[in-house]
Amino acid sequence: MTVILGGGISGLSAAYYAVNDARLSSIILLEASSRLGGWIRSRSSPSGAIFEQGPRTIRAFGLPGKNTLNLVEDLQLNDKLIHADLNHSVAKNRLIYMDKALHVLPNTLKGIFKTVSLLDRPLINRIWTDLRAPKVSKEDESIHSFVQRRLGQDIADNCISPMICGICAGDAREISVNFLLKSLFEAEQKHGSIVKGLVVKQLKKFFSKSKDKNNTAKNNADIKLAVRSSTLAKRAQNEHWMAWGLQGGLEQLPLTLADYVKSRGVIVQTEKKCEKLTFKSDRIELSVNGDLQECSRVISSLCAKDLAELLQEQHPRLSAELKAIPTVTVGVVNLEFQGDVLPLQAFGFLVPPKENLPLLGVIFDSCVFPGSSTVLTVMMGGAWFEKYFGPNPSKEQLLTTAISHTKNILQIEEEPIAYNVAVLKDCIPQHVVGHNARVKRIHDYISAHHIPLALCGSSYQGVGLNDVILSAKQAVRDVVK
Ligand SMILES: Cc1cc2nc3c(=O)[nH]c(=O)nc-3n(C[C@H](O)[C@H](O)[C@H](O)COP(=O)(O)OP(=O)(O)OC[C@H]3O[C@@H](n4cnc5c(N)ncnc54)[C@H](O)[C@@H]3O)c2cc1C
Repeated sequence: MTVILGGGISGLSAAYYAVNDARLSSIILLEASSRLGGWIRSRSSPSGAIFEQGPRTIRAFGLPGKNTLNLVEDLQLNDKLIHADLNHSVAKNRLIYMDKALHVLPNTLKGIFKTVSLLDRPLINRIWTDLRAPKVSKEDESIHSFVQRRLGQDIADNCISPMICGICAGDAREISVNFLLKSLFEAEQKHGSIVKGLVVKQLKKFFSKSKDKNNTAKNNADIKLAVRSSTLAKRAQNEHWMAWGLQGGLEQLPLTLADYVKSRGVIVQTEKKCEKLTFKSDRIELSVNGDLQECSRVISSLCAKDLAELLQEQHPRLSAELKAIPTVTVGVVNLEFQGDVLPLQAFGFLVPPKENLPLLGVIFDSCVFPGSSTVLTVMMGGAWFEKYFGPNPSKEQLLTTAISHTKNILQIEEEPIAYNVAVLKDCIPQHVVGHNARVKRIHDYISAHHIPLALCGSSYQGVGLNDVILSAKQAVRDVVK
């Protein structure tokens, strides 16, 4: 019997891949709370507008993006899918709020030759900055330090730092460059500069095209085995989709996934909290709500910190490594305004941490997925949650902060007609400097001790929904091995 811990999107995806793997039978999924979906939660305003409390859009590109679209097609959710293309205004207009004004990030070729308000010099000049900057050999460093060294302080402070707030609500001075911008970091480490590394990569690609035909075909065959191209994935590629969501809210994805796996025999149980795991030579003992259960394999989709608690007694070293993957708390406030109150169509704006504001950014949901009203989501706190809100803020405090800053920045006169406030405690794991090495130590420990445990979820390979769904696929392979 295989037990999957956690009924968020990664646990449910693991159940989906497990039930489609003939080598696994008898699958149980245990979820501690009373609902499935984890951080994915869609609510409706009285007017019917969708308030996404967690994720709202999923990237359409890359291998992980293709993998998720295959899943969506299999779940027959195609009809509900809404997408934004790369030439949509939301894809082009990405804003930064700095020095009391909104600035558009350069989004055209012409833009990179101009000095824009966010930067001291045109972007194109950074080619020379990078080529002149000496190589510093390192195992890893923070994204901020890397970008500052190679491209300049202004890019690190005004562009990269707010982007990191948008990706993981984190501090660019802590997040690992070797994890999040691996190819750029490797370009410097191997070739002395980002530009040289990228040029060499392109040249290699060009010259090895014919020579490596067989090799590439072999590699591609492996990838194709793992990630085929569904009709939906091909459509997304041909139509240049940037991101997609679901009519009626993204929560339908985990709920449909749950129905799918249940209909194929997976036992899905809510309000079942696993409190302890003990690995015996011939079985695994799980303590669930105080009762003892047994199984032969475990796939954990829990946040690393939560899994650490279950292993503390038997594997304190592994538990300590898992605990060392930190998380941040995000305050989310969804706001609905009557009619169109926005000054421009855009994906939203992000706020550099040096502005010392409690806001990480504001997403213009109704620009991405238009409706009859304006819907915005204000993200607050993250790595600075306690600094701005203390350990236990009230929902009123979050709401008042969100409304006053949003109205002020976007110059909105009207009051919102509806809102939703949530504090998402420890919701986003932080892949800090040394993350890759830590995850390797975790996997090495599990395999050296022959523990029949596989890991998936946002603590290890990335926080995006595509990453966690792909990590579930990988975990099913690992556990079968
Ligand atoms: C505010 C916010 C916005 C985001 N926006 C986006 C976005 O737009 N696009 C995108 O791609 N990604 C986004 N993300 C990231 C993405 O939502 C998450 O990475 C993803 O939902 C994590 O899913 P998961 O299943 O790994 O974890 P979770 O959703 O945390 O699920 C884990 C589950 O395990 C359960 N559990 C915990 N302990 C136990 C136990 N002991 N026993 C049994 N069950 C247990 C929990 O109750 C939970 O249901 C966002 C995240 C947040 C927080």
